[in-house]
Amino acid sequence: MPEPDADSLFHCRQCGHCCEGRGGIVVSPADLERLAAFLELDPETVVERFGEVSGGKLKVRNGEDGRCVFFREGAGCTVHEGKPSICRAWPFFRGNIEDPVSLALAKEFCPGIDPEAAHEDFARAGRAYLAEQGLLASDPAREANALVLP
Ligand code: SF4
Ligand code: SF4
Repeated sequence: MPEPDADSLFHCRQCGHCCEGRGGIVVSPADLERLAAFLELDPETVVERFGEVSGGKLKVRNGEDGRCVFFREGAGCTVHEGKPSICRAWPFFRGNIEDPVSLALAKEFCPGIDPEAAHEDFARAGRAYLAEQGLLASDPAREANALVLP
């Protein structure tokens, strides 16, 4: 039987839990360029309208509902193609890849993760996915801590 890959271990159910913004969604300089291009705005305007700096990093602001300002009920992420790397990397976050207990908690939080996924498979497939997608950390001082180091 083939080893499970990222697609077989995770399939987003669009429930929106991960867009609640707790802890903030970090926007690296590369993320800002992509987001600005997607929104057809210049980066300064994106920062002014949608950003805030906390902990020394640029993050997406929360809307009045406490969720990420780009989340809309019923529509989900309104910047899907321009969303930050940390959103692309979920659920293959460093904690979930390194720690089976963290993965078990993530399964409770996110209905998109296969509840039967073995930690070993999740970690192997997740690392492969992150590498393929160019989502391994490359600028940790300005990126989310949850990105996996190469
Ligand atoms: S919590 Fe999981 S299933 Fe829900 S929107 Fe986020 S990634 Fe998708
Ligand atoms: S950018 Fe999109 S995927 Fe990321 S937290 Fe906001 S709404 Fe969710």
